Amino acid sequence: MKSIRRDSGGLAADPAKTASIAPGKADLILHEGIVLGHPGSDSVAIAGGRIAAHGKFSGLKALVGPRTFMLKLAGRTVAPGFIDSHLHFLEAAAAATGISVQRCHNVADLLAELRLATGRVPPGNWLRAFGCDETLLFERRGPTRAELDEALPKNPLRLRHQTLHASWLNSRAITLLGLESADFKPPSSAAIIQRDGNGRLTGLVAGMEAWLTSRLPPVTHAEAESRARVMSRELAAAGVTAFTDATARNSSAEVGLFAKLAQAGAICQRLKVMIGERHIGSADEADALAQAAGIELAGVKFIPGQGRDQNEISHHTGLAMERGLDCAFHATEVEELEQALTAAEAARANASGSRGNPRFRIEHGGVIPPDDIARLAALQAWVVTNPGFIHFRGPKYASEPGLLAHLYRARSLKTAGINLAGATDAPVTPARPLAAIAAAISRASFDGELLGREEALPVADAVGLFTVEAARLARLEAGAIEPGLLADLIVLPRDPYQLNAAELMNMIVDITIVGGRVVYEHGRPALANSDTAELRNV
Ligand SMILES: [Zn+2]
Repeated sequence: MKSIRRDSGGLAADPAKTASIAPGKADLILHEGIVLGHPGSDSVAIAGGRIAAHGKFSGLKALVGPRTFMLKLAGRTVAPGFIDSHLHFLEAAAAATGISVQRCHNVADLLAELRLATGRVPPGNWLRAFGCDETLLFERRGPTRAELDEALPKNPLRLRHQTLHASWLNSRAITLLGLESADFKPPSSAAIIQRDGNGRLTGLVAGMEAWLTSRLPPVTHAEAESRARVMSRELAAAGVTAFTDATARNSSAEVGLFAKLAQAGAICQRLKVMIGERHIGSADEADALAQAAGIELAGVKFIPGQGRDQNEISHHTGLAMERGLDCAFHATEVEELEQALTAAEAARANASGSRGNPRFRIEHGGVIPPDDIARLAALQAWVVTNPGFIHFRGPKYASEPGLLAHLYRARSLKTAGINLAGATDAPVTPARPLAAIAAAISRASFDGELLGREEALPVADAVGLFTVEAARLARLEAGAIEPGLLADLIVLPRDPYQLNAAELMNMIVDITIVGGRVVYEHGRPALANSDTAELRNV
């Protein structure tokens, strides 16, 4: 992340502001409130982008200089900023600024939404929509090709699945992509092109998302940047001060794009980027691009599963380890977890030495059978869990009662000593850590079903998934309020440790601070990305 090295001032390295600060004085003091994790303190002083001190306000007055901003908490709580360990920034940005059908609960509503959207796209142009999940629709099915053709006769359509692992296409899209031409070859063995009983394409394709993206008209840089500004602001409003992009499609091209976005100030959070397993050969190039922009490679993202060759995954895992790169395995299903653990165990056994101390990460850990817990422990693996899935995608799991005991484990993993961090996986669930934290406590789905109650976490552990533990995973000097750590902080209207899950779920974030700089203040939406933002004394 941006200033993981001690010598870099991170986002607070704003020479105009820091140079004028009198030595020994604070840039900013948040005073007279609750300091999360420190019952004896009521104020926090920040200098040079880092936490200088915390304590009683009376004890910090010596740090007040003529240019120190004073921010009165007035009983509010200052907490560590949230670190989202796994999201898909560009996809989330596209979803946040584009056409989303996430709120539709049945096929008719979904088609109506798409029909409405065609009014905004000239005939013949691609319509890109996001957020369909057949398991969450009333009919328990996605739209048919005929329904999509009827709703969108004039535009080719790509409707992405909520999980980002599949897409629905209408006939215009199928024709443009050549999927029905005699010489069409699927881009990889993992591609699934669904056909009906007569052998005709249904419009649903899976496992070829990167290929589809490469075939659609490219997004201009200007468009990518304006989307990024909107998404970064959304994240700031949710209290996110750092995140890792875990997109398997990422190659050095995407790392280059992130580098440009970070340099342009379009992303105000600290940022780490994974690259996809297929692009492991260009890891050095991606690393150079990242470093030049002050961002970091977060490791390699693997997608195990049907059609994947175990030897290939194991081999690539070994290569990533040799380079000192963390290996992050997507694993929502038992089979995926099995492939991931096998690859990690093989790489560990064959390791002839690796740079640094690369880690194994299980992303999601949707279903973890009891026998695999010891294997995770032996590998000192991390599980990056998504408690938000319980809330936002609950009905999908409630229909598979056999899996419930192993579903998005949290407490049992913690008890077994497994490293556990949290993530929203946005845009798969909303980029709101507080909602995920609430779900980790309540284990309640949005329709009131309790799923795996025994896996519920106490509030401090739930908050820790997105703060102290996430910082440890990202090797980021943040995630807690301690002198010397990065001043990545949020101000909340109430003390989260005193709230129940429903109150946490609905709590807004008042102020978000990255590297000592206020990037968001509730009610001032333009602040996040403004270069000229000045702190308003409250
Ligand atoms: Zn993901």
